[in-house]
Amino acid sequence: MSNQIAVRVHCRLGEELLCEAQCHIYNYEQGGAAQLSGVSARAVEGKYGVLDPAQLTAMPRSGDNPHYPVTRLVCLENTHNRGGGRVLPYESVTGICGWARGQGLATHLDGARLFNAAVASGIEPAQWAQHFDTVGVCFSKGLGAPIGSALSGTRAMIDAALRHRKVFGGGMRQVGVIAAAALYALEHHVERLAEDHANAQLLAGAIRALPGLELRPPQVETNIVVFHVAPELGTAPEFAGRLRDRGVLVHPFGPQLLRAVTHLDVSRADIERAVAILDEVVRSRAPSPSSSSKARSAYA
Ligand SMILES: *Cc1c(COP(=O)(O)O)cnc(C)c1O
Repeated sequence: MSNQIAVRVHCRLGEELLCEAQCHIYNYEQGGAAQLSGVSARAVEGKYGVLDPAQLTAMPRSGDNPHYPVTRLVCLENTHNRGGGRVLPYESVTGICGWARGQGLATHLDGARLFNAAVASGIEPAQWAQHFDTVGVCFSKGLGAPIGSALSGTRAMIDAALRHRKVFGGGMRQVGVIAAAALYALEHHVERLAEDHANAQLLAGAIRALPGLELRPPQVETNIVVFHVAPELGTAPEFAGRLRDRGVLVHPFGPQLLRAVTHLDVSRADIERAVAILDEVVRSRAPSPSSSSKARSAYA
């Protein structure tokens, strides 16, 4: 909702936003910009979520030509979920935001995992945020609060946002209990994200060493570990099912792609156990009928 409210704050009916093709705003919000605000999205494929500023320079369209939507907003996501928890390179953010400002375009950061980006990069959240007009953060991901996201921006933008939130159905009463949990998370759960990142490295190291598994991207930067499973080990849902039967939960992220996430409810010992179970599942894998028939046809 914080992302969609930001879209509504910045754009008017018939305008468009630019974003990276794998981002949350484009893929995981039901096309909300179109449904809620009459705004279309033009998505540009990045490299594990990272756009080169040069990819955007030819994209903005103005109202001079009545065929075109008017480009109004650029949205980035940091860290990038489908990019495997990648921290956007700081120069890519400053490059894109500086360029956008020069073009008169608004900028919004989907910072659902901004605190992971800050801890991993050593660049403070405020330093990342200063380049954007609005920033959304999520308290219920790595920060571990039960619920809630927040949107920040100028006073005028937040005044407008409060109106949109109401009509989007997000007005709530007695929210102090929710805010208290978010405040607790901000005060106690930010620095400890480094533990999640270290646990993700431990898991990534094990995955790197196992036959049939491949990290995508090859480097893990925060608390998300995305890996490809060779078809010989089954599909992603099948492989996830075998892990789940043994007590390890991973999320199918594509036909052969899985996502594992470390967080404050997963200890070092849990990761060590998960690594042992991964090892067992990979090594015990008997060829399935489908993979053995594939092997046969390969030799035919
Ligand atoms: C989870 C998530 C959101 C939305 O957070 P809510 O908790 O649904 O408000 C937005 N962007 C990204 C990248 C996310 O992972």
